[in-house]
Amino acid sequence: MRHILSFDVEEHFQVSAFWSDARRRQWDRLESRVEQNTLRLAEVLAQAETKATFFILGWVAERHPEMVKALAKQGHEIASHGYGHELVTSQTDREFRDDVRRSKHILEDVTGERVFGYRAPSFSITDRTPWALPILVEEGYLYDSSINARFQRSEKVGKERGVREVITTAGNIFEVALPTASLCGIQLPIAGGGYFRLFPYSASRMFLRQLEKAGTQLVMYLHPWEIDPDQPRMNGRLVSKFRHYLNLKKTEPRLQCLLRDFSFAPVVESVHPIRAMAQARAQREVSG
Ligand SMILES: [Zn+2]
Repeated sequence: MRHILSFDVEEHFQVSAFWSDARRRQWDRLESRVEQNTLRLAEVLAQAETKATFFILGWVAERHPEMVKALAKQGHEIASHGYGHELVTSQTDREFRDDVRRSKHILEDVTGERVFGYRAPSFSITDRTPWALPILVEEGYLYDSSINARFQRSEKVGKERGVREVITTAGNIFEVALPTASLCGIQLPIAGGGYFRLFPYSASRMFLRQLEKAGTQLVMYLHPWEIDPDQPRMNGRLVSKFRHYLNLKKTEPRLQCLLRDFSFAPVVESVHPIRAMAQARAQREVSG
């Protein structure tokens, strides 16, 4: 079974846990580390002969177009993480439409290739943003990977996991939701992000073996800053600092173990119906 490997490409200072309007205004003056970290990830992937989906911020692509081109040239899938890491829940529907349209245009301009996928900053498509999926359909996205059971208030949304087709008022879209494990009654996406750094690798491997037995694909997600133990430290809440800076040294060796023990691919390759739709759309554009 091929699992899904994805990276949310953003600067270490853009994460939601450290968000403040004052810091937002300083983004262009803070030390940029996203390119070196992302290219390091690409090296690790090349060593393991593995391709992934990179959900990239439009803001980052504008400043690092060569990095985006290099990833595309290496055969990785380029997808959108929105423009400026604004949570969907703090945008209006119109702002959200502008954000996903702008980032898609920037990425497509840089690579010359179609962008099919979107992941919201901090998985912030929830039951409070019912307009989000129809807007993604209208803006030409084939799939979304923003639903994380952990962050859903509604039980109904929280129970839906794995890859499934969602019918919206604007047409259909695939949802590539993060699978979770139940720990003491709480659903946790334990194989991605902070959980991958928190739990020993053996726990992540056990979780993944369980998923495989159940026939479920893992949607693994990490960020370039998670392999960067030397990044400058930011001020913020204690819990945010704990979660952001925990075990940064361990991410890269753990990722290497993961790539050795399991098989991964980008979303557009590992989900058959999405691959078929992407190919059909590309075909239509060539012949039209
Ligand atoms: Zn993000």
